[in-house]
Amino acid sequence: MQIYNTLTRTKQEFVPLNAPHVGMYVCGPTVYGDAHLGHARPAITFDLLFRYLTHLGYKVRYVRNITDVGHLEHDADEGEDKIAKKARLEQLEPMEVVQYYLNRYHHDMEALNVLPPSIEPHASGHIIEQIEFIKKIFDAGYAYESEGSVYFDVEKYAKDFHYGKLSGRNIEELYAETRDLDGQQEKHHSYDFALWKKATPEHIMHWPSPWSEGFPGWHLECSTMGTKYLGEQFDIHGGGMDLMFPHHEAEIAQSCAALGHDSVRYWMHNNMITIAGKKMGKSYGNFITLEQFFTGTHPLLSKPFSPMTIRFFILMAHYRSTVDFSSEALEAAEKGLARLQETYSRLAKLQPSAVSTVDVKGLRERCEEAMADDLNSPIVISHLFDSARAINTIFDGNGTISETDLKELQGVWKLFVEDILGLRMTTNNTSNTNETAYKGAVDMLLDMRLEAKKEKDWTKSDMIRNKLTQLGFNIKDTKDGYEWSL
Ligand code: ZN
Repeated sequence: MQIYNTLTRTKQEFVPLNAPHVGMYVCGPTVYGDAHLGHARPAITFDLLFRYLTHLGYKVRYVRNITDVGHLEHDADEGEDKIAKKARLEQLEPMEVVQYYLNRYHHDMEALNVLPPSIEPHASGHIIEQIEFIKKIFDAGYAYESEGSVYFDVEKYAKDFHYGKLSGRNIEELYAETRDLDGQQEKHHSYDFALWKKATPEHIMHWPSPWSEGFPGWHLECSTMGTKYLGEQFDIHGGGMDLMFPHHEAEIAQSCAALGHDSVRYWMHNNMITIAGKKMGKSYGNFITLEQFFTGTHPLLSKPFSPMTIRFFILMAHYRSTVDFSSEALEAAEKGLARLQETYSRLAKLQPSAVSTVDVKGLRERCEEAMADDLNSPIVISHLFDSARAINTIFDGNGTISETDLKELQGVWKLFVEDILGLRMTTNNTSNTNETAYKGAVDMLLDMRLEAKKEKDWTKSDMIRNKLTQLGFNIKDTKDGYEWSL
């Protein structure tokens, strides 16, 4: 399989360090607010990778961290801790804030059918490891202490290593960008970043360290927890493109300084979601939480959208392309997903014949080829739609399929639609007992209608049909009986 390495800016053959084991680290959420569309994209992108690598037979250890300390208001080094601020405003323990939003995040991820990672470490649970990591950077000579805080010495580091190799930035640019910020008197240079910050008296989350009572800098947790759980070198590090600088650049610098080499072999970044061409954010008024999508409670939304529509919408674009969100684009995704679902349930009902008169071969190879080409999910989806045309031809009675071909087709659809793209198909959702009961009841009514039609009891058959239509069901008579949707 080929993946695009952001560091080398090339597609590379993926060769794990220690096959069949694969180590994969993805930057997770900062838990001080509800997850929004911007959280859904990296979660779904790396879920797709996790699922595909597992399908290829790799044993993946997938680590996704929880940032629950050190994520400050203004930039990486200044301002109030975002979680502590929320705790202060709502008069809660900081860990109460973390747990509350983490529960909600997990609920949203479950709804999007994002598989849980193998390990979900909290930054606050790895303070000792982070202090040890700082000591290594100190010992190597790339950190300095100032007023109880510890900073990474970017200038010293840049003499020995390439600082900016991931983001393509250079030190002069950084100097120009950062020099006017306040509160940097403690630093030798404005672009130095904090490894440890001394806590001010009002700062409620702090721990003892050799330098001061304080807390770790945000970038440090990922270098520390990545290498703790995946080793000093591991295969894949992922995240959103917005994290390339300063977060991932700082991670590379910390690892190179502490260990003498970069920890990561393949850096992968998903592109951003824009809303009407604009970046999404609280300050733009276009910030839509996943909960608001699911319930339709945001002025930019025409109606509620199911979690699977959101997932399908994201998978319809390649992860390295930008996606522009609009209510119309989501409605189009919803229609596409409904077509896929309809075909999926038709495929389950097809009866085999002696021979195939419709060409259904080669779907598996084409889908595998697209996935192996840097996770090209939109091409997989277009192959499935091509195949849907053949399936519908057979379903409409204008073609036949052999038993072998049918089994293969059903297997490939299950594999790519459900297992790899991770789309929950409602026809196959037996885990949801409410839904199963509801479907069973509708099917029973329509079976009664079929019976009534056979007995030429038109009053009864029309009554059932009209009542269901009034309730919002679409009922379609077919060769073998009926189809319905809501
Ligand atoms: Zn990170």
